Amino acid sequence: MAHSVAGRSVVVTGGSKGIGKGIARVFAEAGAKVAILARHGDQAQAAAAEIGHGAIGLAADVTDAASLAAAAGEVAKAFGGVDVLCANAGIFPPAKLEEMTEGDWDHVVDTNLKGTFLSVKAFLPLMKASDQGRIVLTSSITGPVTGFPGWTHYGATKAGQLGFMRTACIELAKYGITVNAVLPGNIITEGLAGMGEEYQRSMAASVPLKRLGTVDDIGHAALFFASREAGYVTGQALVVDGGQIVPESLEALASA
Ligand code: NAP
Repeated sequence: MAHSVAGRSVVVTGGSKGIGKGIARVFAEAGAKVAILARHGDQAQAAAAEIGHGAIGLAADVTDAASLAAAAGEVAKAFGGVDVLCANAGIFPPAKLEEMTEGDWDHVVDTNLKGTFLSVKAFLPLMKASDQGRIVLTSSITGPVTGFPGWTHYGATKAGQLGFMRTACIELAKYGITVNAVLPGNIITEGLAGMGEEYQRSMAASVPLKRLGTVDDIGHAALFFASREAGYVTGQALVVDGGQIVPESLEALASA
C-alpha cells in the first residue's frame, strides 16, 4: 500500500509542525514528493530539510486564496503536478461561548473551514490531471463526535469539514478524485503541549489504549486514504483515537 504513493506529488497544509509534519514525513518515507505549506515559510523549509527525501517548504496562508494560488504554481513547477492534497492546517485557541468574540469565531472558522475550501479550490485544477487524485482532510473527534468546553467554534469547523467532504466527494468523483477525512483523537504535538501537562495526563487516562496518539498514527491513516488501493473509498471519516470515544462511561473504562 505504502509503495503506491511513491513518486506521487503530495501537498500538506500546516505541515511545518505537529500532525501535518508527521503526515509529511510518513508520505516522504513512502517515496512521495512532498510540499509542506505553512504561513511561516522558514519553518516550512526547516521541516522539509529535516524530513529530507526531496521535500520542499513553501509559505502559504490557507485563509488567503492568492497565497494558495502562488503555492500551487510553485508546486506545479517543482513537481509537475499534484496528486494528493492533505488539507490539515488548523488552529484551536480555546474560548468559552460566553466570552467568545465574533473575531475569535471568524479566526477559527476562516482557518479551519474556509481554509479547507480554499485549499481544495487552489489545488483542484492540478489534481484533475492526476489518475490518483486524493483529498485527505484532517478533521477531529471534537465536533463530529464529541464536545469539549472552549471549542464551540472549533467543533463547528471540524464537523463542518465532514459536511463539506460529503458533497465534495460526489462532485469530484467524475475526476476520479476521492475525498476522505481522518478524525484524530488527542495527538502529541507542539499544539497539544500548549494545553498543559494536566490536560495531557487526563486525556491519556480516558483512552482505552492508555496513551495519546502520535503524529505517525495520523500519517498512516492519511497514507491509506491516499493510496491506490483505497481508490474505491470516498466520503468516509476514519476515527484514529485509541478507542477514546468508545466507552459509554468512566465505569466502562475502569472496569475493563
Ligand atoms: P499545530 O502543531 O499547532 O500545527 C499547526 C500547523 O498549521 C502549523 O504548521 C501552522 O504553521 C499551520 N497553520 C496554522 N494556521 C495556518 C494558516 N492560516 N495557513 C497555513 N498554515 C497554517 O497543530 P496540530 O495539533 O498538528 O493540528 C493540525 C490539525 O490536526 C488541525 O487541523 C487540528 O484541528 C487537527 N487535530 C489536532 C489534534 C491534536 O491532538 N493535536 C486532534 C484532532 C485534530 P504556521 O503557524 O507557520 O502557519
